[in-house]
Amino acid sequence: MRSDPPAASPDLPAALAALRSVLGPGDVLDPADPAAGFVRDERGLLPARPAAVLRPRDTAQVAAAVAVCARYAVPVVPFAGGTGLVGGAVPLGDREQVVLSVRALDRIRSVDPADFALTAEAGCIVADVQQAAADAGLLFPLRLASEGSCRIGGTVATNAGGSNVLRYGMTRELVLGLEAVLPDGRIWHGLRALRKDNTGYDLKQLLIGSEGTLGVVTAATLRLFPAPRHRAVALLALPRLSVLTPLLACARDLLEDRLSALELFTRTGVELLLAHVPGTRDPFGARYPAYVLVEATATRDGTGLAAQLEEFLTEATERGLVTDAVPALDHPQAQALWALRESLPEAEKRAGGAVKHDVGVRLSAVADFVTAAEERLTQRHPALRANVFGHAGDGNVHVNVLANGLASAGIDRAEVSALVHQVVAEFGGSISAEHGIGVFKADALLAAKSPLELALLRTVKDALDPQGIMNPGKMLLRRQS
Ligand SMILES: Cc1cc2nc3c(=O)[nH]c(=O)nc-3n(C[C@H](O)[C@H](O)[C@H](O)COP(=O)(O)OP(=O)(O)OC[C@H]3O[C@@H](n4cnc5c(N)ncnc54)[C@H](O)[C@@H]3O)c2cc1C
Repeated sequence: MRSDPPAASPDLPAALAALRSVLGPGDVLDPADPAAGFVRDERGLLPARPAAVLRPRDTAQVAAAVAVCARYAVPVVPFAGGTGLVGGAVPLGDREQVVLSVRALDRIRSVDPADFALTAEAGCIVADVQQAAADAGLLFPLRLASEGSCRIGGTVATNAGGSNVLRYGMTRELVLGLEAVLPDGRIWHGLRALRKDNTGYDLKQLLIGSEGTLGVVTAATLRLFPAPRHRAVALLALPRLSVLTPLLACARDLLEDRLSALELFTRTGVELLLAHVPGTRDPFGARYPAYVLVEATATRDGTGLAAQLEEFLTEATERGLVTDAVPALDHPQAQALWALRESLPEAEKRAGGAVKHDVGVRLSAVADFVTAAEERLTQRHPALRANVFGHAGDGNVHVNVLANGLASAGIDRAEVSALVHQVVAEFGGSISAEHGIGVFKADALLAAKSPLELALLRTVKDALDPQGIMNPGKMLLRRQS
């Protein structure tokens, strides 16, 4: 893998002494300290060997710590929940970079129902933010399987998606304002709850999805919505993958804007669940090539919602788009259906892991793309098998090539990724729909973007972080001639 040129060797001992004086000695942790043990790569593919783990307690301390790092040219790797899947939150290289954890910034500063807004610090766990919104009778709609561990700083930095994007949008659409520490230690106070603000470039959007390469997010003002009081969930068995596009159109037509999620998984995923997640039952008596989980929600009319779902299932069945369906009759049944979908990453991990791909294509191209990618994989070697699942209602699928097949085929991860990304390019798609670039996709980004796009990205990076101390070697590499 190509990487940025190594940063100038920093005067680490002096920098660490200065960091101890601004944070206190107890909050500059030695990586060997058990209290620093949370710093690790979620996928276990990268070593995590920072020079130190910084634990600032508030925004002023984040600013002071980053200012010290800027003075001594010590690279800083922001760290929140550590659930990122592209290796972005751990340092590259050995003992030259510090990890700055925002976990201690964990206050919900305000919940403002009249503004439909909430301000949370970067270390707040997403599930806690959801709960704070629910306590006020409102909804914070970001919903992902890692929501019990991932934190606001990380979800903002990665522009996280999840299974409610279809209705509420990605994190970009959920952030009204930001507070962040810039790479020189200045604090940008942008916590505004305005819905409309056309005063120049939208600076918060630069930081959202920047993966720690432009600064440290310390707090965010987030959009809230009326809380749904009724939910209708059903699992559908598809006769074949190619019905996906008309099925999505049918769902949008008949469930209108109450449709909040449309998630896809395949038989391979069900086999993984049955083998590796105790208590899983095959959802239908027969085996089907593909399954779709549909959810619709309503804030007022529960009876109408159930009837609407029923009408959709009838219509989809009559048109041959669905072979079988299990509507959830109550909340526990709905949870059990969702558990199938949300346990897929864990089942995959227990099966030995996978080369993960997080692909975005046009809504109408999902089935064709998946078919083409699977064909290309098996042409390369019949042992290559993909666990395909994801947010099909947003054109976002994970084509995760199981590692055990890879080993028996004797093919390396890079070749498999190049193969999948080639198909993505043929479909005019994106190599990262929601997980970001980090380390694992940094080479692929160089190939996927035009020279002009890369030059513009690099211009932004150099303007905000001229020393290149924020999360070096992540996302944006220099193209080597
Ligand atoms: C089981 C599972 C399911 C998942 N499902 C989804 C899904 O459906 N959709 C989705 O989008 N993602 C998903 N993810 C990926 C991951 O949970 C998200 O990317 C999440 O947003 C990462 O948040 P985090 O707090 O764990 O960030 P981290 O892993 O700590 O960091 C991620 C990146 O953000 C940077 N960063 C962290 N904090 C800050 C900060 N305060 N300021 C600036 N930069 C910062 C880091 O340097 C790193 O580059 C899933 C992960 C798992 C393990």
